[in-house]
Amino acid sequence: MRAGETIAIRKDLRDTVYAAYVHGPETIMRPTRAIIHLENLKHNIRSVQAWTAVHSPGPPTVRPKLCIAVKADAYGHGIVETARAAVECGTEYLAVATVDEAVQVREAGIALPLLLYSLPGTTEIPTVIAMRITPLVTDRAYVEALARESRAQGLRTSCHIKVDTGMGRIGCRPEDAIRLVEAVHSHPELRLEGISTHYPMADHEDERYTRDQTARFASLIEDLRTRGVDPGLVHASNSGGVLRFPEGYFDMVRPGILVYGYYPGSELDRPIDLKPVMEFRSKLVFVKNVAPGTAISYGHTWTSSRDTWIGTVPCGYADGYPRLLSNRAQVWIDGRRCPVVGAVCMDQFMIDLGPGPPPERYTDVILFGPQQDNGGATPPDAAELATLCETIPYEITCSLSKRVPRIFTGELE
Ligand SMILES: *Cc1c(COP(=O)(O)O)cnc(C)c1O
Repeated sequence: MRAGETIAIRKDLRDTVYAAYVHGPETIMRPTRAIIHLENLKHNIRSVQAWTAVHSPGPPTVRPKLCIAVKADAYGHGIVETARAAVECGTEYLAVATVDEAVQVREAGIALPLLLYSLPGTTEIPTVIAMRITPLVTDRAYVEALARESRAQGLRTSCHIKVDTGMGRIGCRPEDAIRLVEAVHSHPELRLEGISTHYPMADHEDERYTRDQTARFASLIEDLRTRGVDPGLVHASNSGGVLRFPEGYFDMVRPGILVYGYYPGSELDRPIDLKPVMEFRSKLVFVKNVAPGTAISYGHTWTSSRDTWIGTVPCGYADGYPRLLSNRAQVWIDGRRCPVVGAVCMDQFMIDLGPGPPPERYTDVILFGPQQDNGGATPPDAAELATLCETIPYEITCSLSKRVPRIFTGELE
């Protein structure tokens, strides 16, 4: 092809082959994909509901309300499908971090209350109001802006007060909460629906900080009530709180990572039955035999010490398989683990299949995912890869890029 030339695509092929590629069944898509096990998601949500019902200070039949975080494309799992599954399980609230995430939920026809955990830009405030998003208010100026826009749109906006009791991120100081409540009450366009705080240390080995923080938040709530203020729904607990601090359940809990099948910290007990929801899969697309002394990938960081089979997997750091996993991680193929050898490239990486007869080309390769039913050895999960990268499972699932198609399994009613 010369510069300036255009290519013609046969219309009949565009209508059949290409249309099937874009819209067709899983079998003709890219080998690298994420299987999202919605049945596991629903299992985890129900496990969390049962756990909070049993551990909440009240009678065991009463559980706190549930607010599921679907921010960051539901931790990489797909916001719309995750939100639908959560609704099906009876979650009372959903939460997002950005306004465009909230818009995706609303455009999917989901009318559930939707908390906005982060602060929007000023130009996004009209959308917050119009889309019936519930902001966490942190300061007087934000309250004024929300009231002004609500008035302009002729709407009444529910909001929750956000108090900073130790996270140091957003929120008013505890001693300023009463003035913020009064600011909300001074505007008929606003409705005070709740009050919240956030735990920075709920997944930390030492429980004392969170116990003390919970006590301080509880006494603030008592104080407001003594002054005749009804703060509405009181909430504080992220996944760490759900797991370890029932005294912080109040009226609603706000887990994220637990419902995606992981614990917030690697050192914690694992008393809730959880199943990873995301399975990251690819296929062996190239297999070759190499002699001892053959170096593999950029920088030649790995050299074979024996005659062996090397497989190539068409997935790389641009898909969200971290480059830090070079020469560290293992993958699961044909019921066994094989090491990643050499540097993970942008779009491909190599594995050492060993000297024996290699698996067939196009055999599935599991990069991480839930345990298989066969018992015995298992594929890595996102927590294992997180440890290898000195990070947390959240970052592993969130990092799967848009380039990776999500395939959803499990029935949605
Ligand atoms: C993300 C987030 C949560 C959920 O956190 P997990 O650790 O995933 O349970 C809860 N509350 C707020 C304010 C958050 O930003």
